Amino acid sequence: MTVIGVLGLQGAVREHVRSIEASGAQAIVVKRTSQLDDIDGLILPGGESTTMRRLIDKYGFFEPLQQFGQSGKPIFGTCAGLILLAERIQGQDQPHLGLMNMIVERNAFGRQRESFEAFIDIKGVAKEYEAVFIRAPYIVEVGEGAEVLAKQNDKIVAAQDGHYLACAFHPELTDDHRLTKHFVQMVEESKKTLAS
Ligand code: GLN
Repeated sequence: MTVIGVLGLQGAVREHVRSIEASGAQAIVVKRTSQLDDIDGLILPGGESTTMRRLIDKYGFFEPLQQFGQSGKPIFGTCAGLILLAERIQGQDQPHLGLMNMIVERNAFGRQRESFEAFIDIKGVAKEYEAVFIRAPYIVEVGEGAEVLAKQNDKIVAAQDGHYLACAFHPELTDDHRLTKHFVQMVEESKKTLAS
């Protein structure tokens, strides 16, 4: 069975576990770096990116996570996880993991709109998808080879770059598991490719 890990240092972890299971894969909460060997794909959940980064460093996850991505195993960054994945963060000198070819801006929808829901179309994945945004970032620009999957108010809110997937909203907070299912399929396909 396909096993997907959720980085369990901080943030919306349990909800992702439920969504992965509802999408037909096995889920584990990753709290130690050695668990990265047991999984085929990884979700970086929403939460607070600077706190998560601090914990990534504290528990020695920084290089193992970069190696995990560079080995070709899929990573899905949601909200704060999207910020962790980005190659560039607007207004910051250094990115976090810097794995995915895109520029992001934090807390991009303004204070009045701390959290809101919107129905969006996600290219090739879902139409009329209920997206929950909480102090959400957005993607300013994707680099060559990366594909824009969804926009909200002209801002890019979901994208894919090869085996990296990112969204600015919280796909784990509703019962619509179509985006998580899409990630499960990416992981299943990568398993075949990496095995051959
Ligand atoms: N604004 C948060 C950050 O910068 C992300 C919010 C979220 O994950 N819901 O990390």
